[in-house]
Amino acid sequence: VKRVAIIGAGPIGIAAGIGALDRGFDVTLIEKGDAGQALCSWGATRFFTPLRMNITPRMHELLGRDAPPGDALLTGHEMIDLVLKPLTACEPLRGHVRERTRVTAIGRRGLTRADYAGHPLRAERPFRLILNDEEPIEADVVLDATGGFAVPNPIGAGGLPARGEGKLTRKPIRTLGALDEQLESLRGQRVLLVGDGHSAANAVLLLHETAEVIWVVRSMNRRPCEEIANDPLSERARVVSAANDLAENALHVERRCMVEAFDERNGAIEARLTSGRTLICDAVVALTGFHPNGNMHSELNVETSPVTEGAARLSRAIANATDCLAVPRVTFGDLASGEPNFWFIGSRSYGRVRTFLLQTGLAQLEMIFQCL
Ligand SMILES: Cc1cc2nc3c(=O)[nH]c(=O)nc-3n(C[C@H](O)[C@H](O)[C@H](O)COP(=O)(O)OP(=O)(O)OC[C@H]3O[C@@H](n4cnc5c(N)ncnc54)[C@H](O)[C@@H]3O)c2cc1C
Repeated sequence: VKRVAIIGAGPIGIAAGIGALDRGFDVTLIEKGDAGQALCSWGATRFFTPLRMNITPRMHELLGRDAPPGDALLTGHEMIDLVLKPLTACEPLRGHVRERTRVTAIGRRGLTRADYAGHPLRAERPFRLILNDEEPIEADVVLDATGGFAVPNPIGAGGLPARGEGKLTRKPIRTLGALDEQLESLRGQRVLLVGDGHSAANAVLLLHETAEVIWVVRSMNRRPCEEIANDPLSERARVVSAANDLAENALHVERRCMVEAFDERNGAIEARLTSGRTLICDAVVALTGFHPNGNMHSELNVETSPVTEGAARLSRAIANATDCLAVPRVTFGDLASGEPNFWFIGSRSYGRVRTFLLQTGLAQLEMIFQCL
C-alpha cells in the first residue's frame, strides 16, 4: 500500500486526507498547529464562497446531519469548529492526523537534489520528512498543502521592508484575526491601514467606527478596492463596495503611494510615504499580502515559480486566468512539480496568486488522485 504524507491540515489537506484514505492509501496528515490553524487568523471574516464550494460532496456526507447548510457563509472559526475538526475526528481520518507536528525538511532517502536528477531511479527512493523533535517519517507520495498565506509580505514599497519597520516597538497588526482581537485597544486612535485587497476592505469595515483611519493604497482610484461587475459572490461584493463607499466619502485616503519609512517619536509613529508626505499615527495595520514558506524543499527537484513562489508549471498554465470563479482548465502535466510523486496542492500551489479558491484546489486534487 502506498504511503501518502500530507503536510498541512487546512481545508485542502483534510480533503486530500479523506480522498487518499477512500482510495485505500496509507495516510499520515501532519499539521504544525491544530487542524484548520490558518483560518484562526481570519477573525470574524466570513468566506465569500458558500460552504458547498469549499468542501467536497464526500466531506458533506461525512458531516451528516451536523453539516452546516450548503449556502452558509462561515467565518474561519466556524469552518474549523463545524467542519474541519469534526472531519478529523471521524472515520476515515480519525487516527491519521498528527497535530502540533511541524515538517521542517523533505528529501529523498540518502539523495541530495543533485543525485539522479531526472533519472527514474530517483523515484524509487522514498521521501523522508524531517519533523521537529520527532522521528523522521518516510512516504511514497507527498502532498504539500502548507498554504500560500504563511509569511506576511513586508510593508514597504515594492514588497521591501520600509526603513524602521522591524524596529517599531508597537508591532504592526498583520492579520484580520489580530485586528479583531486588538480592536478595543485601538479605540479613538489614529490607525494607518496599508493595503487595498479584500483583507484591507474587511479591515476598513471593522475599524472605521472605532478608530481614526488613514488608508494608504497603491491604487489611484477613488474606489481603491477592485470591484467585479455583477459579482456572483454577494458577500465579496458587499464588503468591497462598502469599503469603497467609505474611501470615497468618509475616510482619509492616501492614494497612489506606499510606505517608505517608519520612525517612532514620543510614543507616536511617523510614516513617510513615497508621495513625500509624512503622516502621524498611533498604530499600523498592514494587510499587504502573504507568501508561502519555501524552506522545506531545498533537497528536492521541485520547480517553484520565480513569479508566484507556487508550483512553476501551474503558474504558467494559469498566468492569464483572471476570473477566480472559472476553474482554470489545466493538464496533468501542469500540476506536476518536477519531483516525481511530490505535489503542491491547494493555496500552496498558487503561491502569491490571489485568484485561488477552494473549489479550484478541490478540482485539481481530483486530477492528482488520478495520477497516483
Ligand atoms: C481572509 C481570507 C479569506 C478567504 N476567503 C476565501 C473564500 O471565501 N473562498 C475561498 O475559496 N478561498 C478563500 N480564501 C483563500 C483560501 O481558500 C484559504 O486561504 C484556505 O485556507 C486555503 O486552504 P489550504 O488548505 O490550501 O491552506 P491553509 O488553510 O493555509 O492550510 C495550511 C495548513 O498547513 C499548516 N502548515 C504550514 N506549514 C506547515 C509545516 N511545515 N508542517 C506542518 N503543517 C504546516 C498550517 O498550520 C495550516 O493549517 C481566503 C483566504 C483568506 C486569507
